[in-house]
Amino acid sequence: MSAIAEGWQATLSRVAHAARAVGRDPASISVLAVSKTFPVEAVVEAMAAGASRFGENYVQEGVAKIVALRALRARDEHHAAVLPMPEWHFIGPIQGNKSRAIAEHFDWVHSIERLRIAQRLSEQRPEELPPLQVCAQVNISREASKSGASPQETLALCHAIAQLPRLRLRGLMAIPEPESDPVRQRAPFAALRALLEECRRDGLALDTLSMGMSADLEAAVAEGATIVRVGSAIFGRRAAAVT
Ligand SMILES: *Cc1c(COP(=O)(O)O)cnc(C)c1O
Repeated sequence: MSAIAEGWQATLSRVAHAARAVGRDPASISVLAVSKTFPVEAVVEAMAAGASRFGENYVQEGVAKIVALRALRARDEHHAAVLPMPEWHFIGPIQGNKSRAIAEHFDWVHSIERLRIAQRLSEQRPEELPPLQVCAQVNISREASKSGASPQETLALCHAIAQLPRLRLRGLMAIPEPESDPVRQRAPFAALRALLEECRRDGLALDTLSMGMSADLEAAVAEGATIVRVGSAIFGRRAAAVT
């Protein structure tokens, strides 16, 4: 088995174990394979291992990979390339001038932190594609440096996003501040879940909690994650961050 196939299998086992520990069905949790900084060959390898959803943080890199995978599939030269086209999720910060490329190429966006960006994505989503599936990103640890809407403004932001014609609001996403203690990891995830429940009580039909990464996915699953975003545990260590 390749290192990526092993990382994928090990991640599925961790998710299943964490789900059963709290009485959840492992099938209710999707693993988003975060392929940022890794080449399209790594995506093809992960697809062969069973991954069908990929996350990217940087617009140009992500779009290049989507286009490259399409070309590979058109040439039909690799077994894994003939698997169905995976779902592509944009999970990084969004600059206004990059929103069109996101609207045209991705299936999901997890990182909407203000209404203006949501409006642009809705306006720019091509007619022939299904609505863009989106999550509002919440700054759940209330760190000045972190992206995301404040918990206080999240409900209003969600109601406004839900009105946009070419977006379909699915839920909330957060990236809590790193915490090594597995018990303390749970608090921000519990807070995000409480916020999702508040949105639901207020009439929004939401089904997605995007939370948990390589270092804290067990805590996130214990608190109700429906999508965990896992990079290094599948693909290995990344070189220093590119931006
Ligand atoms: C890089 C990244 C991940 C994956 O992080 P790992 O620690 O490698 O699992 C998840 N979510 C977001 C938003 C990221 O930028």
